[in-house]
Amino acid sequence: MDRFDVCIAGAGVVGLALAYQLLRTFPKASVLLVEQEPSFGQHTSSRLSEVIHAGIYYPPGSLKAKLCIEGKAALYEFCDRFQVPYRKVGKLIISQSDSDQALVSLGRNARLNGINDLEYWPEDLIKSAEPAVRAKHALFSPSTGIVDSHQYMTALLHLSEQRGLVYAPRTKVTSVHPLEQGFILDMIINNGRNTELYAPKAKWFINCAGLWSHQLAKTIENLPASCIPRRFLCKGDYFDYRGENPFRRLIYPLPDPEMAGLGIHSTQDLAGRLKFGPDAEYVDEIDYRVASNKRDMFAKAIRSYFPALKADKLSPAYSGVRPKISGPSEKPGDFLITGPEESGISGLIQLFGIESPGLTASLSIGVHIAHLINQRSI
Ligand SMILES: Cc1cc2nc3c(=O)[nH]c(=O)nc-3n(C[C@H](O)[C@H](O)[C@H](O)COP(=O)(O)OP(=O)(O)OC[C@H]3O[C@@H](n4cnc5c(N)ncnc54)[C@H](O)[C@@H]3O)c2cc1C
Repeated sequence: MDRFDVCIAGAGVVGLALAYQLLRTFPKASVLLVEQEPSFGQHTSSRLSEVIHAGIYYPPGSLKAKLCIEGKAALYEFCDRFQVPYRKVGKLIISQSDSDQALVSLGRNARLNGINDLEYWPEDLIKSAEPAVRAKHALFSPSTGIVDSHQYMTALLHLSEQRGLVYAPRTKVTSVHPLEQGFILDMIINNGRNTELYAPKAKWFINCAGLWSHQLAKTIENLPASCIPRRFLCKGDYFDYRGENPFRRLIYPLPDPEMAGLGIHSTQDLAGRLKFGPDAEYVDEIDYRVASNKRDMFAKAIRSYFPALKADKLSPAYSGVRPKISGPSEKPGDFLITGPEESGISGLIQLFGIESPGLTASLSIGVHIAHLINQRSI
């Protein structure tokens, strides 16, 4: 039977960044990364805005704030070092209100999080810098950027494989059996034609299964039900815009306190192609189809800051689903990363609610987990 020091279930951006950080911290460790799909990053990690967030919105002292800000710096450094394409395009959070109060309180929150580079822009500055945007006030974040998330994940995988990572796509963890020391992990390997059972042992098991973390947690023998938080699925749809991109920066409305996302914003990929989204809709099932009848709702939201929008140039693009641990009209949940203390199971680490800014925070989530392991021995 194969034995590993660590087994990570889930090769999204977080599982990949975690494998990379573990192998940097523990160069002699044997690490197995399993992914149920034929390739890495097929779910939330490729259905996102690709924005490197500054860390403006999250409550001071939260894991989201800490890991976003540390992760942002680490991600820019990683991209420079390993030639992953990115651009610090900057972002404007805009307000249509006569009062700039909401922006001032966002700015105050950002300062408490340690962000000191924000600028308040009056209407005339917004008009000259972004002529297509209608807004009375704006908060400008120069450290916000966009990144090629696929190339980032590819780099993480290649660097980790060079350091000895065993990567197993088409391999699903079906149940987890804690032993006195470590785990037996039941897996199914599906090569597309037939299936095979596999049951390696690992000292540490890290549940990094994104939208399926809760489901996987339920298969862990003797795990108290109180260690599995509630799961809510919150879908976000995107629309492409086939017209010319009139924006130089990313344009975000003020977050609506009723909404579970940051509001339908403009974003762009590294080729400058413009898209709008995501909206936020709580759903019961994971279904990535985008309803074209949302076009009018998108057009109305976008016109509030981009009056020249031509609705017929909007076309349904793709969607992602946020794995939330808080429900509609509840306070947004933080990232939930639990270790052996919480579960009473030695060697077990679980991640729940890794929604935005999970891409930005991925490298610092890896460091955070390496510390959890570091306090014990691998
Ligand atoms: C609409 C949207 C927009 C976003 N925009 C941004 C953004 O601009 N910037 C930002 O920082 N963050 C953003 N995020 C958040 C970011 O996308 C996520 O935090 C991140 O992708 C989560 O990565 P993950 O590895 O935890 O999950 P995933 O990418 O979902 O990976 C989990 C993996 O686990 C695998 N898996 C599941 N069960 C098993 C099993 N039993 N055995 C083996 N494998 C299994 C799955 O197949 C999957 O590949 C956005 C999220 C959404 C939904």
